[in-house]
Amino acid sequence: MHQNGPASTPAAMSELNQSRIVQCLHADGVSSRADIARKLHLTAPAVGKLVGRLIDAGIVSETGEVASGGHGRSIGLRLNAKRYQVIGVKFARSLVQIGVFDIGGHLLKMEELPPVTDGDVESCVHEVRRRIKTLLDRNPSIVAIGMAVPGPYLREEGRIAVVTSMQGWRGVNFIEEFGRTFRVPTFIEQDARAGAMAEALFDTRIKGANLAYYLVGEGVGLGVIDQDNLVNGSLGTATEIGHVSIDMNGTTCECGNRGCLECYCSAVAIHTLMGGADHRGHFPGLEAMTHKEACNLLFDMARQGEPTAVSLLDQVADYVGYGCVTIVNAYNPAQIVIGDLVAQAGRPLLDRVRTLVADRALPQVRDHTEILLSELPADATLTGAAAVAANQFLEHPSSLGGQG
Ligand SMILES: [Zn+2]
Repeated sequence: MHQNGPASTPAAMSELNQSRIVQCLHADGVSSRADIARKLHLTAPAVGKLVGRLIDAGIVSETGEVASGGHGRSIGLRLNAKRYQVIGVKFARSLVQIGVFDIGGHLLKMEELPPVTDGDVESCVHEVRRRIKTLLDRNPSIVAIGMAVPGPYLREEGRIAVVTSMQGWRGVNFIEEFGRTFRVPTFIEQDARAGAMAEALFDTRIKGANLAYYLVGEGVGLGVIDQDNLVNGSLGTATEIGHVSIDMNGTTCECGNRGCLECYCSAVAIHTLMGGADHRGHFPGLEAMTHKEACNLLFDMARQGEPTAVSLLDQVADYVGYGCVTIVNAYNPAQIVIGDLVAQAGRPLLDRVRTLVADRALPQVRDHTEILLSELPADATLTGAAAVAANQFLEHPSSLGGQG
């Protein structure tokens, strides 16, 4: 890996066993080596070796004897979760969040920047740098930074190829701006892929190695874990579901295609739809709202049964559902987790998406595909940004400043 530079090749999920042990200790509290081996389906010698490294790095320590799953008593292991912390940054479009997490992926502190407009992307980048420096100065426990950026992200170039509705972000070279700026290394990942990592590591409902995180926020994105591997593509721009066309004669998208999914169900698209000719006067105060606020207004009004809001939300949910059918057909994940701003619509959205998938996807496949809403305590992409940093630290603690 690159010291003080962004990692270009993230480890496969199956290789993140030190991260999984940490997560296991975080979720279950004090556990024995045998408990961990059973839970993670690893051999006792493998767990012994991995735990040894974590103890050397000061991340895990031994306690007294504990009862161990019907196998008598053995030495307990405890996670020193707060000893090492990471920063996660989520760049959406207008929305930028910075979180400090412990090494087990739990949010300790969060800052949200004022809404960013296309004209002040540059000053936003400066502000993020300033805030991270302040956090690092005040907190010597922070060992790495993870950043999640919208796709399609050209991972070697460090740039985003297209950012619908806010092209200002295309001018930012994330590797140059953040790669070698801080006393700790920075790792950059496409937003939905970071979200998929967070779901795989931290959502206890996630069962296996085939998962899709479907980000429906200011943009629409997808992160796919296939047989334990994140799907990247040759430039890092694979799985861009937001730019899959659902109408070849549809509106022109800033990516050059027509009728892209993102033009119909992103938070930006919802905000635009709410202000459209069909809904004039229905949603008061819309012009002054952020995309997030506009979506929340729609969801609140739909919850109260306001007919225009209900019908608009149904329309949006159907588009989210079309995207889901494509995900099922293209990647055949066992589980699809829908997250970000639009998932805040909750159960009505989920039910409608499930119905649409039941109607339109192959029965033999859809019956083996579970569709869920993200239930992580903090946003999956923000948590994922932290997970990217935490994983890098946990897999290489000595090279990132941990003891060892
Ligand atoms: Zn497009």
